[in-house]
Amino acid sequence: MLIIGLTGGIGSGKSTVCNGFAALGAPIIDADLVAREVVMPGTSGLTQVIHQFGKEMLAQDGTLDRDKLREQVFSDASSRKKLEAILHPMIREEMDQRLSRLDAPYVILAIPLLLEGGRREGIDRVLVVDADESQQIARACQRDHQSKAQIQAVIAAQCSRKDRLSAADDVIYNTGDLEQLNHQVTEMHNRYLRLAANKS
Ligand code: ATP
Repeated sequence: MLIIGLTGGIGSGKSTVCNGFAALGAPIIDADLVAREVVMPGTSGLTQVIHQFGKEMLAQDGTLDRDKLREQVFSDASSRKKLEAILHPMIREEMDQRLSRLDAPYVILAIPLLLEGGRREGIDRVLVVDADESQQIARACQRDHQSKAQIQAVIAAQCSRKDRLSAADDVIYNTGDLEQLNHQVTEMHNRYLRLAANKS
């Protein structure tokens, strides 16, 4: 199976692109979703996070207060490392299990922080979703109702557009409208089917 690692900056259009691939029948394994699942109530992931960061990271309903945790680790590299040491092996293990159950020509692993230290092993091609910074800000602000400054801070903490593009094997340019985006997704889908056929 051809394994595609899909990445891109905040608000670049990763989820929209994944939905497009999924509509064409491609399986998607989303690292963000897996990251949420490994800290659901009752998991050993949640127990370990609370042991490390304290009960104050729990919301009223017993779920992890992800915003609070994010706030704590965003500006503190050592806390972030501790959190990553707990979560990354679990996320990886769960993604590997899902991969092993799949039977498809290619699979998309959506890993937002792939180039900021995410898993690279086993990935055949890096697919970058690219957009202008002004578009990332406008789209993310509109969706999340976050301020421009908040989105800019996230962009500054992420890999630069130039570095991301130079690490890419394939690029989907989300600088136009949704129709142009979907057209590129279809082209890329066909390309991956061809590459997968050549690989096997
Ligand atoms: P995040 O990193 O924050 O999870 P993302 O990269 O997954 O974001 P999306 O959620 O796919 O990005 O897109 C951000 C917002 O922009 C969404 O509301 C989406 O519907 C919208 N959007 C994406 N692409 C386009 C486009 N080409 N034209 C207009 N709106 C778009």
